[in-house]
Amino acid sequence: MGRDESNEEKKRKYFAKEDDIASTSNPTQRPRITRNINSSKQPTSSVVLRLGLLPSSSRFDLNSSPPPSPPSPLPLDVNRLSRVAVDPPTRVPRNQTQPTRIRHSDEIIPPPFPWATNRHAMVHTLTYLVHNQIQTIAGDVQCKRCGRNFVIEFDVRQKFLEVSNFIVEKMDNMHDRAPDIWLNPTLPSCRYCGQENCVKPLITYKNNKGSINWLFLLLGQWLGLCTIDQLKYFCKHTRNHRTGAKDRVLYATYIELCKQIYPQGPFSR
Ligand SMILES: [Zn+2]
Repeated sequence: MGRDESNEEKKRKYFAKEDDIASTSNPTQRPRITRNINSSKQPTSSVVLRLGLLPSSSRFDLNSSPPPSPPSPLPLDVNRLSRVAVDPPTRVPRNQTQPTRIRHSDEIIPPPFPWATNRHAMVHTLTYLVHNQIQTIAGDVQCKRCGRNFVIEFDVRQKFLEVSNFIVEKMDNMHDRAPDIWLNPTLPSCRYCGQENCVKPLITYKNNKGSINWLFLLLGQWLGLCTIDQLKYFCKHTRNHRTGAKDRVLYATYIELCKQIYPQGPFSR
């Protein structure tokens, strides 16, 4: 069974799959985000990026899809995303879903983003995103220098590869603690004033943790900019340990998000 498969075995398969697929890289990489990618300094330039490493949609194991959730509004209009992001999820009356006491993680919520599910702190799998043509993940950012707000977009495959390759290579040496690059991430340069290392993601809207754009923060490797309280919120809803110092909670958040996006990946310990 896959559950009994060792992490080493998963890693071996993961890299074997990369080599297998590298020669058939997906030609549908969208050029539209290069504008944003080029205009912002990448936080993990040390990661060797190999496009097309992740399986194309036809290679995904569809059995690993998440529980059914409502379809996202498609096609994706990235210009509306910042507005989506600032609309806090409306509260669903508890008694509407379950008369009895439910675990908080089972609470149904309106998905705050097209790439988020209807559960707290849960994002869709890459399989789902590919099948629903959600390739660009956007989020609001603000320059600490000039104060301008704007939107940064990521190609989900490309950026997830950067994150997952970094984890796969370093996981054995992390010892369940986030490395310094995650705790103190490098920030992009401002596209307006040109100042380096000064553009921060806007993490919550009106302090509503339900509005956190988890996938965007993962892809930018900016989860370390969350407060420990926000990270504990994530871990609480995903039933991860939420005790200990920030480096442990942050590590758990990275790993859990990677598992959500790519359940077949070698992210278990
Ligand atoms: Zn600026």
